[in-house]
Amino acid sequence: MIESSPRATKIVATLGPASNSPEMIERLIRAGVNVMRVNFSHGSVEEHSATIGHVREIAARLDRDIGVLADLQGPKIRIGTFAEGKVELVSGERFTFDVECQVGNRERVGLDYPELVNDVAPGDTLLLNDGRVTMRVERLGSSTIECIVLVGGTLSNRKGINRQGGGLSAPALTSKDMDDIRTAAKLEADFLAVSFPKNAADMYMARELMRAAGGRALTIAKIERFEAIGNLEEILLASDGIMVARGDLAVEVGDASVPALQKRMIKMAKGLNKLTITATQMMESMIESPVPTRAEVSDIANAVLDGTDAVMLSAETAAGKYPVETVESMVRVCLEADRHDALPFDNEFLNRTFTRVDQSIALSALWVAMRLKVKAIVALTESGSTALWMSRIDSGVPIYALTPAAAGRRRMSLFREVHPLSLDVHSKEREQVLLEAEMRVLQAGVVEHGDLIVMTIGEPIGKPGGTNTMKIVKVGFNH
Ligand code: PGA
Ligand code: MN
Repeated sequence: MIESSPRATKIVATLGPASNSPEMIERLIRAGVNVMRVNFSHGSVEEHSATIGHVREIAARLDRDIGVLADLQGPKIRIGTFAEGKVELVSGERFTFDVECQVGNRERVGLDYPELVNDVAPGDTLLLNDGRVTMRVERLGSSTIECIVLVGGTLSNRKGINRQGGGLSAPALTSKDMDDIRTAAKLEADFLAVSFPKNAADMYMARELMRAAGGRALTIAKIERFEAIGNLEEILLASDGIMVARGDLAVEVGDASVPALQKRMIKMAKGLNKLTITATQMMESMIESPVPTRAEVSDIANAVLDGTDAVMLSAETAAGKYPVETVESMVRVCLEADRHDALPFDNEFLNRTFTRVDQSIALSALWVAMRLKVKAIVALTESGSTALWMSRIDSGVPIYALTPAAAGRRRMSLFREVHPLSLDVHSKEREQVLLEAEMRVLQAGVVEHGDLIVMTIGEPIGKPGGTNTMKIVKVGFNH
């Protein structure tokens, strides 16, 4: 018997001290992680290289296509350090950011970005530690920002600082990010996430730097700045996908604006054939607890219903007490939410016209697959574009993407409803390749004899060139 349909929504897990050992990486992959996120905000090049090495080795041994996402630190503005490691701030008291301050105390602390003094004005609200502590700017000196604490609390070494409403001048790519892009290219990362991009130019620059270093990673723009919302369309067009980076975004635009923005971003991204990752605090309570809250379960299910390609775990897997249990819970919630009724075609889809042959075949195949209620779509694809286009519409039909290229399969690990499988087409006859494709999905246990499938093929097979053929096959009955 065939198990019920495979999970459509993909899971990204961040590796960190709680999970970057070979043993934990294996357990996370077995639990269902599709893409491993390596956070360049922490750790050395040697550590990243070792971690990615383990992921590749274990994925190969388990015969899984696991993507690696390199996430750049970006220009997160941070305070300096305190003599005691942290201070308690009380509402109503004064506090000063001082570029010249070396060791902080209850009255002042240093800043790693001197330009901040020119970016803020009296009356502005500054948010620290993801908004847990807030301050109002009172007065500016040549190297100081004097504030009144509005909401007090603990402030510890090197916490981040944001300005409500955005508008900070820091460029998206710091010199560290540029070095890290070269490292990511060398380590053959499959995805490159750019933190705090403001516009399309930031994304083009990241892509250029990566290409120049020989990398082929898909680029993901983390939407976490106020300005990025206004430039969403141009950022999408300049990227392969976006991350709904709810942590910093909530600080910049206000937490209450984020849920509606999440829906808008995912919809716009899919309309432009781009990828989406929904991130941050999805299972936050599982850092400390072996079970999620009801609200977390609903949040994940809602992201699935919004149509996200992937849901992401951060501290839950990087530093939490229950990384494996968190992934298992997420798998369970995604599987259940995936089973909702496929969204009906909207007129926009039916009225679409195409300029590309491969794109018209992809969407015709999808239309037939839905109308004929086939078991699966089997796409013989080199670049993965066919699978990407088909997966932009929530059809409920699993798409098996067969390609000989391991890097192509790893990139598809993020696509919703797409399941990459290896297939060797090298110097084989057309009939032979089609037969092997059928055998491959049979052997993977995803279809049975007699099931109807839709295949998309680029002919002549094995020659580079786009998909131009669609075939409807009753599995095991054509040979
Ligand atoms: P971060 O990005 O985890 O790198 O800060 C995600 C977010 O801000 O939500
Ligand atoms: Mn962030």
